[in-house]
Amino acid sequence: ATMPPLLSAIALAGRHGVLIKSAVVMEKLAETTIVAFDKTGTLTEGTPRLLSSPTPSLLRWAAAAEQASEHPIAKAIVTAARERVIPVPAATAFRSTPGRGVEATVDGHVVQVGSPQVLTAELALSGHVPAAAEGVTGRTLALVEEVQASGQTAVVVLVDGVPAGILALADRIRPAATNTVTELTTLTGTRPVLLTGDNPGAAAHLADEAGITEVHAALLPSEKADHVRALQSDGHRVLLVGDGVNDAPALATADLGVAMGTHGSDLALQTADAVLVRDDLTALPAVIALSRRAHRLVI
Ligand code: ADP
Ligand code: MG
Repeated sequence: ATMPPLLSAIALAGRHGVLIKSAVVMEKLAETTIVAFDKTGTLTEGTPRLLSSPTPSLLRWAAAAEQASEHPIAKAIVTAARERVIPVPAATAFRSTPGRGVEATVDGHVVQVGSPQVLTAELALSGHVPAAAEGVTGRTLALVEEVQASGQTAVVVLVDGVPAGILALADRIRPAATNTVTELTTLTGTRPVLLTGDNPGAAAHLADEAGITEVHAALLPSEKADHVRALQSDGHRVLLVGDGVNDAPALATADLGVAMGTHGSDLALQTADAVLVRDDLTALPAVIALSRRAHRLVI
């Protein structure tokens, strides 16, 4: 077979399910030395399930605050409330912080649902733990550690700044993830890296399953971008794959941003240079190899 010229390489990439937004993308694919992955929705299916058994009251607070959120964790919480036929009250003053969580007013109370950093930030902000919350906070943090050590995602629920409980969630790895990581290394010689906003325990668990050894966890959206810049200043050409609003800054910073087509948020799809239209990760090693053949021909 002959080498594919540039335009037919783009068409071929399309057949692999990779929508390429401009011709320069083929060149950047060819130059990639690191493939950085987001975790939730990218290496995992993006449909986490609630694993703990919260009280109806806890689930009610959490679902009420999360009902306006598009985040996979929010959807899992709202679904769990619906499955348990728990009536969810309306919320006002909804606010979401990508990479952290949400806040809303429910029945006149401020409800926060988010990563355990939300709890520690809240404590730092108030400068002291309210007397009523002291024992509760200690117990909550102990529960968080237990959940995270088992490789799950812990989400903390605060009502008026006082911990009301935690929820444990876990997502499944995409069946193609491990193979993709192996092929990236063997077929393209690129280095896989995991960048996630989730906790180090959950990140390590997933990285282990996927065969990734370089892991950076508990990152805010801006810190994902910082990590990409750090790799670039070491001389790397970084391709980043992500799906969420929280990935947009890193997708924009990377030499090449690739969004998940089905699970991808509108912002991720707009920011990316290429889209995996069927969320098929196996297309990545294939198109990097393809781009190298095509690029060798045009230069
Ligand atoms: P990832 O990098 O794995 O895609 P995110 O950056 O979206 O993860 O989120 C990081 C962490 O922030 C989550 O693991 C969770 O603890 C918290 N978080 C973000 N959004 C929400 C939300 N809507 N509800 C609860 N927790 C959230
Ligand atoms: Mg994600």
